[in-house]
Amino acid sequence: MASMMQPQIILLKEGTDTSQGKAQLLSNINAVTAVGDVVRTTLGPRGMDKLIHDDKGSVTISNDGATIMKLLDIVHPAAKILVDIAKSQDSEVGDGTTTVVLLAAEFLKEAKPFVEDGVHSQNLIRSYRTASTLAIEKVKELAVSIEGKSVEEKKGLLAKCAATTLSSKLIGGEKEFFATMVVDAVMAIGDDDRLNLIGIKKVPGGNMRDSFLVDGVAFKKTFSYAGFEQQPKKFLNPKILLLNIELELKSEKENAEIRLSDPSQYQSIVDAEWNIIYDKLDKCVESGAKVVLSRLAIGDLATQYFADRDIFCAGRVAEEDLNRVAAAAGGTVQTSVNNIIPEVLGTCEIFEEKQVGGERFNIFSGCPSGRTATIVLRGGADQFIEEAERSLHDAIMIVRRAVKNSTVVPGGGAIDMEISKYLRQHSRTIAGKSQLFINSYAKALEVIPRQLCDNAGFDATDVLNKLRQKHAMQSGEGASYGVDINTGGIADSFANFVWEPAVVKINAINAATEAACLILSVDETVKNPKSESAQGDAAAGAMGRGRGGGRGRDYNLKSPNGALSLQNQEQALESAFLKS
Ligand code: ADP
Ligand code: MG
Repeated sequence: MASMMQPQIILLKEGTDTSQGKAQLLSNINAVTAVGDVVRTTLGPRGMDKLIHDDKGSVTISNDGATIMKLLDIVHPAAKILVDIAKSQDSEVGDGTTTVVLLAAEFLKEAKPFVEDGVHSQNLIRSYRTASTLAIEKVKELAVSIEGKSVEEKKGLLAKCAATTLSSKLIGGEKEFFATMVVDAVMAIGDDDRLNLIGIKKVPGGNMRDSFLVDGVAFKKTFSYAGFEQQPKKFLNPKILLLNIELELKSEKENAEIRLSDPSQYQSIVDAEWNIIYDKLDKCVESGAKVVLSRLAIGDLATQYFADRDIFCAGRVAEEDLNRVAAAAGGTVQTSVNNIIPEVLGTCEIFEEKQVGGERFNIFSGCPSGRTATIVLRGGADQFIEEAERSLHDAIMIVRRAVKNSTVVPGGGAIDMEISKYLRQHSRTIAGKSQLFINSYAKALEVIPRQLCDNAGFDATDVLNKLRQKHAMQSGEGASYGVDINTGGIADSFANFVWEPAVVKINAINAATEAACLILSVDETVKNPKSESAQGDAAAGAMGRGRGGGRGRDYNLKSPNGALSLQNQEQALESAFLKS
């Protein structure tokens, strides 16, 4: 009886949805596994692509884990964590985004039976963290440095890394072609950290092989006026003037009000307007520049004026492009034409306007500061070029990473198998439950080679058995064996130049473990109803005050906008009933 009399403790707002305990944890794990299953098939050179279209009708075809995760628009709170780690992997290292999602999902999948059996998550988390530290140490130990090689040799090695990244993409068929291009582009910008110094321009049409690299800047011809055709379209070692002003005939009546008493004075006003623009143009010409670029419009008068003096001009150049010309050609963008000193002018070996497919391009090559490169991408459909751009971005990031910390590990699941073996061996030395957990972690790592096989249509069990056997060899000679994507057997990934920068693996293991531990440490989800019914509450509050502050019996029922849920209305009905 006594317990029935006890008042109910109300802790959270009415309508708050909470779920907790083991069931909650298992449901989170299931959600994450489901996300893993979505990206699973995109892994590796034989991975499939996803076509994602939204209600606006835009279509994206992609193989990139981060892009897919972003576009999936996941709403499950736990599964959202996977989106974040994919994004962070993308911005940190640029590649390995599918890997990281897959690993996180697999770690949790392996943890599931333990959770079901009542193991406390903290035990799992502790073991997973230990395993991840051990794994990362092992990757560092196995990584091979490519430092100390000649530039040519290094370029070759970097191209191998880029080719491995590209092999899983739509443009994988031309991976050598693009890998060399990417390496040249990255080498061109040297130590500079700004990624936007490598421009990628997309020109639909033509063949992938028509893509080319400019050791400088290229951008699409801007809008031009009559007279443009008379301008020269090629210069050797021209001086380049970069402006951020309009070169147009302005009617001054917009700037000032002028009252004339004598109509004959009108001509002087018109003359003044012309003088302003001619003065500007003269100063540009005097500077000795042969190429004039401006962020803002260059009008028809200016175009004709420059044409008469054998000067090339382009107005409305995109800011990004203008800045890249400045970086490459060594000039600075001017906001006035007064006092143009030679130092602010840039130069390049060759400037020319060229036809690329259906477009005309302004190309600046052989730039002295040299810190920029532009890849002009060609290809059939828009979606194709877009995906090609994303793939090149991955490859560029990978090469930059490899240039910075130049250690590589064998890909194709080789490194994963080796760490897995190492962790299994290590777990045998541990007494207690932790042994089982570390063993599961080791097993989860095998998902990479298994998925590579599955995606290629190979018998995964068969290949994995062969791999386990190779990696178990005492001599250690099997350590770099991975899946041979061409034959369906196993092969020495290192000898086949399937290389990945070590940072990709280290970051992926780290991020995936953290995500898995984060999800394991959540035992309760609370959904705050505030955002949903804030409107209803506000309306109700106002009403309540009007009636003297009491929660009138009818306020819930007469909710003006029906914002209250059915459940709430039922509860309100009930309480109203009890009160009366
Ligand atoms: P991610 O988004 O994780 O980079 P990918 O689809 O690019 O996913 O696949 C990367 C995986 O494919 C890596 O494990 C890599 O070792 C493997 N891989 C790439 N090229 C080859 C190849 N030629 N043979 C075998 N495995 C490869
Ligand atoms: Mg990749």
